[in-house]
Amino acid sequence: MKTSVADLLSGDVVRRLAAFTASGPVVSCYLDVDGRRYVRPHDYQLEFERMARPLRERHPDAGPDLDRIEAYIRGGLDRSHTRGVAVFASEADGLWETVALPVSVSNRLVVNQHPQVKPLEAVVERAERFAVLLADRQRARLFVFQLGQLVDWSERFDRLPRHEDDRGELVKDQVRDHLDGATARHLKRTADALFELFNESGFDHLLVGAPNDIAGPLKRSLHPYVRDRIAAHLTVPVGAREDEVREAAVTAEDEVLRKRQAAEVDRLRSALGMGDGAAVGLDDVLRALVERRVDTLLVSDGFEAQGWRCSSCAFLATRGPNCPLCGTRMEQADDIVEEAVLEALHQSCAVEVCRENADLDVLGRIGALLRF
Ligand SMILES: [Zn+2]
Repeated sequence: MKTSVADLLSGDVVRRLAAFTASGPVVSCYLDVDGRRYVRPHDYQLEFERMARPLRERHPDAGPDLDRIEAYIRGGLDRSHTRGVAVFASEADGLWETVALPVSVSNRLVVNQHPQVKPLEAVVERAERFAVLLADRQRARLFVFQLGQLVDWSERFDRLPRHEDDRGELVKDQVRDHLDGATARHLKRTADALFELFNESGFDHLLVGAPNDIAGPLKRSLHPYVRDRIAAHLTVPVGAREDEVREAAVTAEDEVLRKRQAAEVDRLRSALGMGDGAAVGLDDVLRALVERRVDTLLVSDGFEAQGWRCSSCAFLATRGPNCPLCGTRMEQADDIVEEAVLEALHQSCAVEVCRENADLDVLGRIGALLRF
């Protein structure tokens, strides 16, 4: 079954997958297919093969599912609006679900008794709403995107009176930002419409595209709640095609995410400097997680390490084999970082998988801001 982003946002898909019970193995695959990192399809196909190889040896019964996912990935993905894919497959129980995501995901491939939906759930939960306001002197268009999906929009056109329309030269001579009455009224109505949209659908961030001469007055006429949400300025013209607007929104979303991650890593560094409220390095972070003290988990993308997991008390450790907490013999985990991320999501911690953040790499590629 092919899932659209609209289905995903409704929450039905995550609920359905979470409730799925299997009699045989279930393969969950998350693949980063972002064209900026994986220029050729071959590049992300290799990444899939790298993850699949050890699983084929360890779980021969999951072979047909891995084959089917591989064929799907090799079959050519339309990457125009897709940066990540999630696939859930279980031949034995008739499960086949593909989700194309407009955001990147961390690569992971697991064989388990149930679909691994936590990362998908995290994508949905974190999907913030981005409003785009495009305006010129007569026209204004408003859009609200979530996960690259248009969820609300409105448009207004306030025709300039003929005589004011012809006063271009005069306007140029006027003091900067001083606008003729008709344009000022148009901007005021635009600001009102945007505030209405904010009250109806709500949005977390606002992106504004307007010519220089009206950008200032437009911003000043916005309601303070709305103005506070301005995240970026766009150079997209008011008449742009919807997919150009979407592309600009998705790109801005990426920048907002990177900035937020950089700010979180800065918080981590200063908390660490004050010796309060931070843990860094795998051992300390795992301990904080087991003690349920983690508020935000920060992990460098691609960080993997072997470790141990206690099936009796859920202790996570880098060294085994006996659980330091309850003494049970622990199971080896191929990737304890993965287990830590899942445990953090399970505890409803915020999780940031940071890309190309050298500051976090230096701190041991994993860190946590603590609640106490
Ligand atoms: Zn234990």
